Amino acid sequence: MPVSDADMVRAWTHVLSLSKLQPKQTVTILTSQNTHPQTLNTARIAATNMGATVNRLDLSPVNAELAHSRDSLAYLGTTPLTGNHAAIAALKKSDLVLDLMTLLFSPEQAEILEGGTKILLAVEPPEVLVRMLPSIEDKTRVGKAAAMLQGAKEMRVTSKAGTDLRLPMGEFPVIQEYGFVDEPGRWDHWPSGFSLTFPNEAQASGRVVLDRGDILLPMKSYVTTPIEMTVERGYVTSITGDLDADLLNDYMAAFDDKEAYAISHIGWGQQTRARWSTLGLYDREETIGMDARAFAGNFLFSMGPNNEAGGSRTTACHIDIPMRNCTVLLDNREVVRDGRLLPLEQAA
Ligand code: FE
Repeated sequence: MPVSDADMVRAWTHVLSLSKLQPKQTVTILTSQNTHPQTLNTARIAATNMGATVNRLDLSPVNAELAHSRDSLAYLGTTPLTGNHAAIAALKKSDLVLDLMTLLFSPEQAEILEGGTKILLAVEPPEVLVRMLPSIEDKTRVGKAAAMLQGAKEMRVTSKAGTDLRLPMGEFPVIQEYGFVDEPGRWDHWPSGFSLTFPNEAQASGRVVLDRGDILLPMKSYVTTPIEMTVERGYVTSITGDLDADLLNDYMAAFDDKEAYAISHIGWGQQTRARWSTLGLYDREETIGMDARAFAGNFLFSMGPNNEAGGSRTTACHIDIPMRNCTVLLDNREVVRDGRLLPLEQAA
């Protein structure tokens, strides 16, 4: 459904206010060929109206010859900023970067944040942005979950389909994604609504059974035939099943990189305005699947890099797998039961 420019300007003003944008601060809008023109124009209007100095930095896309889809998360590691010191300098000198391009999992992003610059990623189409406009309540909910993750030593995930995964944790920081950037050096993604961390190196073990309706990203497909994965010493060591397993194996094999199979971020969705079914309504080209990642009660399993949290693993391949109907336990305390988000006050 189309969104009016007025509604988008209002949405940006809301998000920039939550992000504590002040008059005379410098905002740089990072764009590329995939940037949505309405998102760009309305961001510029909203930030200018708030008294900020607004720049646009437009960079040419890279990796087209390497990626297997048009999804901006389909090939990680190098970005248009790699080796582009002039562009990095401009972004480091900005108070706030609006990333309408996708810098995720890049060392340049970490370098920019270290200097105190905030980065807000926003690449979903306008109607998704306005439907999942972030709120203070989102931050509170995600913060409670993050506090529980912070103290836990193990995440365990089970399901009636056969998943039984043990994820020792504590080596990596907990990351909160609530959709705005209210502290210096903070990165976030509008829209979102989940918290996550990464399992300790080489310690995750067990079995993951993807059931019908679980989602594969960046494929943006619903699993129709079960996929069974064995996890040993932090890596997925086998992926078996029917057609969906064959498709996943073939995609991942193309990267020819054993690090692609490492367990990456782990967490669960907490966004009640995100829906499991939304992905089925969209062309694959039109979304990166944030409804799928954020819908309340999904266990978000993933494979690939851990440099986003300060780890040393970089790999171009990243697979996100929102799973339904799982039970998630932190040190034996349930936080999600059979795919339903438990109110954390009542979690027991
Ligand atoms: Fe991911």
